[in-house]
Amino acid sequence: MSRNILIIGAGIAGLALARAFERRGIAFDIIDRAPSPLTGGAGMFLPGNAMVALRGLGLDERVADIAWHNRRQTILDVGGGTLHDMDVDGFWEGAGPCLSLTRASLTGILRSGVEAQVRYGTWTDAIAIEDHKARVTFSDGAEAVYDLVIGADGFTSATRTQLFGYEPPEIYPRTCWRTLVPNRIGLRHWTVMLGQRRALLGVPVEDGLLYLYGDADNVLLPAHPATHRQDLQDLFGGFAAPLAPVVAALGPDDRIDKGYLGEVAARDWSNEAAVLVGDAAHACSPSMAQGASMAFEDALVLADCLAGAQDLRAALAEFNRQRLERVRWVQKQCRARDSTRSLPRPLRIAILRLLGDRLYRRSYAPLLLPFQNGGTDRVDQRA
Ligand SMILES: Cc1cc2nc3c(=O)[nH]c(=O)nc-3n(C[C@H](O)[C@H](O)[C@H](O)COP(=O)(O)OP(=O)(O)OC[C@H]3O[C@@H](n4cnc5c(N)ncnc54)[C@H](O)[C@@H]3O)c2cc1C
Repeated sequence: MSRNILIIGAGIAGLALARAFERRGIAFDIIDRAPSPLTGGAGMFLPGNAMVALRGLGLDERVADIAWHNRRQTILDVGGGTLHDMDVDGFWEGAGPCLSLTRASLTGILRSGVEAQVRYGTWTDAIAIEDHKARVTFSDGAEAVYDLVIGADGFTSATRTQLFGYEPPEIYPRTCWRTLVPNRIGLRHWTVMLGQRRALLGVPVEDGLLYLYGDADNVLLPAHPATHRQDLQDLFGGFAAPLAPVVAALGPDDRIDKGYLGEVAARDWSNEAAVLVGDAAHACSPSMAQGASMAFEDALVLADCLAGAQDLRAALAEFNRQRLERVRWVQKQCRARDSTRSLPRPLRIAILRLLGDRLYRRSYAPLLLPFQNGGTDRVDQRA
């Protein structure tokens, strides 16, 4: 059944959805508020389940061709002692490798996998649901009527507000910094160093680069923040190798992005002519690195639910049935992992040394289960 569909947002979720729609012959329009495609950003870590979804999108090989393959994940104490070292290759065997690449590369691959033209520099001023249709007023004053509007416009989603009223997402009292630097320390895999209410992460990505991420609870921030570089050096200067020297070597020309983190409580974000996907529907802490995976899975499941469905409301209900439990699990696990930040150091060390393996398996094991109720056989195998 042919429908008029609008995708709002051409980030990870919107582009994955566009790809999934094109592979199923579903027509759509797609807009993005940004004036042009994203070229900046730092790194992305993709655990093994991301590869299952990327395979569903027919993009796994393109990502694997350029990304760094992380065989292990290691958690270190501030002094550099190992708290937990996980054989992630073994854990995700059968799903796929844990890969890491720059955000620009990931979105570039997603964009190159879509034939439709994204209308950049365009957003919606209003969306009115009338008679089972969505009447959209665009930022240039044009109007159009759609059978379905899909909000893929991220954490601060204006679509969410326009459709469901203003419910501010939870902002965590935490600040993060991200940058890409040359991997001069020769780091081989995802490595995090945990301090009290702060964490420093290094992940090798393509082209000899290292993705460096630091975060700290806001109570640790100076009353008068200096440069991002200075803040990072103040917060992590007391850490040991391997990551502290990377922070110490940051120079004035290194581009460091500062941001905040937060959560959108997952629920049924749909009505008779609209639905939300990706961060707009269920953003959460990056502590499980599941944001991209959940966005890819949303895209594949929604495309399957819509393909051939006569009843749109039933299709959206089925989408929620297949997605809600999984994204809620991820949100719950992220909160549990984040809560260890404020534990006294001896307790954190004991927990990670004794239970690190078990906690990792417990968090991620449900994500080894299939996320789709069939449907992949309906995909035509376009390259
Ligand atoms: C610090 C940090 C580190 C992270 N690390 C990882 C990681 O390693 N691995 C991982 O899987 N996930 C990670 N995530 C999560 C991941 O970035 C998100 O889950 C993912 O980007 C969500 O994709 P999205 O398309 O839903 O939203 P976004 O990526 O935010 O894209 C939204 C798009 O919508 C557009 N837009 C916004 N508003 C409008 C509007 N009003 N109209 C039209 N367009 C609009 C934007 O321009 C953008 O293109 C991290 C998140 C953070 C904050």
